[in-house]
Order: sequence, then structure tokens, then C-alpha cells
Amino acid sequence: MAFDKASNCGKSKYSRSAVIVLIVTVAMTAWSGRLIMSSYKVEPIVPGPSVSDIVRLSHYFPGIEGTPGDTDVYFLDSGNPGGTVLVLGGVHATEVAGMLTGVLLIENAQVNQGRLIVIPHSNNSGFTAQPAEDAFVPVFHIQTEWGERWFRLGDRLTNSVHQWPDPEAYAHYPSGQILSGSEVRNLNRCFPGRPDGLFTEKIAYAITQLIEAEACDLVIDLHEASAMYPVVNVMVAHDNAIDIAGMAAMTMEFEEGVNIGVEASPVGLRGLSHREIGDHTRAKVILMETANPMMDWVRGRTTEDLLLTGQDEFMLKASKKGLVRVPYDEQGVPIEERVGRHSSGLQQILNTMSLMYPDSAVQVEGVPKYAEIREHGLGHFLKNPAEDI
Ligand SMILES: [Zn+2]
Repeated sequence: MAFDKASNCGKSKYSRSAVIVLIVTVAMTAWSGRLIMSSYKVEPIVPGPSVSDIVRLSHYFPGIEGTPGDTDVYFLDSGNPGGTVLVLGGVHATEVAGMLTGVLLIENAQVNQGRLIVIPHSNNSGFTAQPAEDAFVPVFHIQTEWGERWFRLGDRLTNSVHQWPDPEAYAHYPSGQILSGSEVRNLNRCFPGRPDGLFTEKIAYAITQLIEAEACDLVIDLHEASAMYPVVNVMVAHDNAIDIAGMAAMTMEFEEGVNIGVEASPVGLRGLSHREIGDHTRAKVILMETANPMMDWVRGRTTEDLLLTGQDEFMLKASKKGLVRVPYDEQGVPIEERVGRHSSGLQQILNTMSLMYPDSAVQVEGVPKYAEIREHGLGHFLKNPAEDI
């Protein structure tokens, strides 16, 4: 009996511990599962006045159909003869100003000549993951007059759940240039892509196929960079678009007082949109960078607030030591500054191309530029998905 009693007593204690462990495990699994699933759910985008069609990227390469790399492609067709311009946001899912500028275009642009094609989540797989070492939040919110909009914050690379393992070294196709292994999941190192390649190469191939099939005249690829990186607040242009970028940048400074540099796409850096799309298709290519302090290694906690304001005490210290490559003070680099730069730069590029190459003209109105976005806030220009009928 004594043995039984002791045994029962021990069993009962063990059971209580086991139940607690089980409850904690289930709670943590449910919590983390919810976070992961929120990354897979695509945020609503409200089709604006010029959206004429929405197709899936896999329409141009069925090899990605049904995968997390497939994504919506928005057509804004004026119905009037002109050029075709493709805008890529979210090639790097961390660099949210690019994705948000795509959303701003889709929801506001009135296209009066030619066509705009917009892909806000170019690497949709990247939006389903966050870099573990950076403790990113999976979603962020932007306040509007009617409530708040939510958006995903993703990783620079394709989700490793969708493409694994990384090789020791990555040989870019078709140049054969050797890059570090993880770059095989970097969409902006995989252009022009190939149909029988790895997952990210297939996404790049689908985009290249779209450019060919839709006879795009120009591709504008929207990115962000760390504020301590030398290539920031800049347009990087393939040699086929350096004339447009130069004139657009000068006009932006003259008309809007917004400074932006222009650099030529280096011939020796392979896999990037501004190199490979220009080399392998008939399209001209310009990539734009703004500064996102969330991407700097010296910054503090990666909160929603940091993402939206760019304000960080450690960045401020770095700035005082002359280590930050953009003007940086207590005001940070708010999302309005970053989306405003992209929106103005993009519209200056469209205007310049329309003047220099009238057959490829694309005329757009209704999209706020830098000063307007800084004055009213980005949320002012985002539509209410509940009113999308
Ligand atoms: Zn980027």
C-alpha cells in the first residue's frame, strides 16, 4: 500500500507538470501559428479608377502556379495608344516603401495614355517570412481617416520553407558569376531567371516572361536600402535608361526640391533587375532606392514604430559621427518621406520618358507626389477595403 501511495503521489505530481507544459506548448504553438498564418494572408488592395484587369503572375509561367511565389499583377490600361511601364514593388519584402508605392498607384492612378502594370508583391514568398535574427514584426499598420490598413512585413529573401537548402555558393544563370549561397533566394540576384531553375529563379523567369509578353517599354523597380549604405536615395539605371533617369532626377530637384542621385548599373554585378532585364529584354530599366533605417545593423528594436518613422536613438548617434549617408535627425526617415520619394521619382521618370520617347508615352494623374504625401500623410491616400464593391 505504501508503494502504491507513493507511486500515486509521484504520478499525480508528474501529471500536473505535464499538463502545464502541454498548455504552454499549445498556447505557444497557436500564437506562433497565428503569426505565421498572418504572414501568408495577403493584405487587401482596392482597385482604383484605372484598374482594368488583375491576373496572376503564373499566367506568364505556369511553373509557379499554386505556389507561394504566385502573385497578383494589376493592369491600369488607359485604352489610349502609348507605352507600357511595369512597376515592381516587393522584390525585397523588407523594403516596404516599394510595395506601398505600388499600392498607392493601384488605388489612385488615373492613367490617361498607355498602360501601367503593377506588381506590389513581386517576391510574394518573401512576404511570408521574417529574418529570424532581426525579430521583425510580421505585419504593420497605417492609420487613415477611416481606420487602419494592415500590411505584411517580409524578408529580403524567399522563405526558406519554400526553397531549401541554400548551396555553399550560388552560380548565377546565365552569367555563371559566383555569389554567396543565400543569394540563391534573393530575387534581385536571380534575373533573368530560368524555367527549370530553383524556386526564386522561376519567379524571376515569370517576371521576365511578363515583360516580353506585354512588350514593356520600361521597368521601374522600387527598393529601400540601409541609411548607412552608400547606394541610397538614388536611381540606378541600365545604360538603356540613363538618359531618362538623369533628366528625371534633375527635374525632380528643380521642380520639387527633392535631391536624388543617379548611378549607372555596373556591368559586372549580375542577377540584378537593372542589369539583366535591360540585357535580356527590350525594356529600359531603372531601380530606385530610399533609406530605411530598419535595415541598418546599428539600430535598436525593430518595432512597427521604427518601420514607419525611421526614428532610432542609435542611428542618431551614428549620424552625429557622420556614418549615415542621408540627412538624419530626430525626425528619422518616415514612411511618407520614402513613399513620397518613390512616387515623385516614378512620375518624373514617366513624364521624362513621355517627352523623350513619345511612342512610349504613359500619362498618369491622381497620384500624390512627395510634398502632398508629406503634408497629408500616407494614410490619407489609402482606400477603405470595406467600401470596395
Ligand atoms: Zn532591395
